[in-house]
Amino acid sequence: QWILHLKDITYTYPDGTLALDKLHVKIPKGKKTVFLGPNGSGKSTTFLHMNGLLKPQKGEIYYEGQNLSHKARKNLWKKVGIVFQDADTQLFSTNVYQEISFGPKNLGFSNEETKKRVEEAMKATNVFNLQHKPVHFLSGGEKKRVSIADILAMDTEVVLLDEPTMSLDPKHTAELMEILEKLHQKGKTLVLSTHDVNLAYSWGDYFYIMKKERVLLEGTHEDVFSQR
Ligand code: ADP
Ligand code: ADP
Repeated sequence: QWILHLKDITYTYPDGTLALDKLHVKIPKGKKTVFLGPNGSGKSTTFLHMNGLLKPQKGEIYYEGQNLSHKARKNLWKKVGIVFQDADTQLFSTNVYQEISFGPKNLGFSNEETKKRVEEAMKATNVFNLQHKPVHFLSGGEKKRVSIADILAMDTEVVLLDEPTMSLDPKHTAELMEILEKLHQKGKTLVLSTHDVNLAYSWGDYFYIMKKERVLLEGTHEDVFSQR
């Protein structure tokens, strides 16, 4: 029932900043998990561990009960997709179509299958008519949608969204929430970070409340919000 398990993860950035201090989190499979906490509380650093981009300095990561070896950690991106907070960190291809096709191509899908996935992902995120546009000419909202399309085209088991609503207006936030609902209905495991308590409360079904490199509270609505 837990798809990812981060056990006692400690992480210090090269400049000496402690970002995670013995972090212990489990992600329920097929559920909507929220990491709620202020800027700098370690949410992004946690996500980078959950998709294998950062190697734990201390502690262990388990995916589907398997302790990740070095090789398995490097391949975790195939199972755990991440939508970065800042779309500019994620998008690097020349045009939208190429950007979205990078993931499925790298996963080894045929050209035909890649095309099908890219077209579906572009339709779901409403960027189909932008497919020939250079990525760097897109607006903030369009970039965000393309970064979500990247992950949809890969069709990963787990989708991490780091502060996905930060640069979005209410209309685009509602669109994003619809896309996430469809993914949830398909059985995907979703994990979202935010500092917005209302969004967390209305969207999530399992919660980690982060404060200063640590988890302050965890659990269901009842466990976390009834204490307020
Ligand atoms: P959040 O996502 O909750 O805003 P982060 O994981 O980004 O938190 O940051 C946790 C801590 O690590 C903060 O003190 C932040 O300043 C620091 N930090 C994040 N990225 C870096 C980096 N690349 N180099 C140095 N310190 C960093
Ligand atoms: P290993 O050395 O374990 O085989 P690598 O990190 O060298 O793994 O990656 C293997 C392939 O996966 C490379 O073609 C690389 O471009 C691709 N790849 C790595 N990380 C990502 C990612 N986040 N998204 C898409 N493709 C990736």
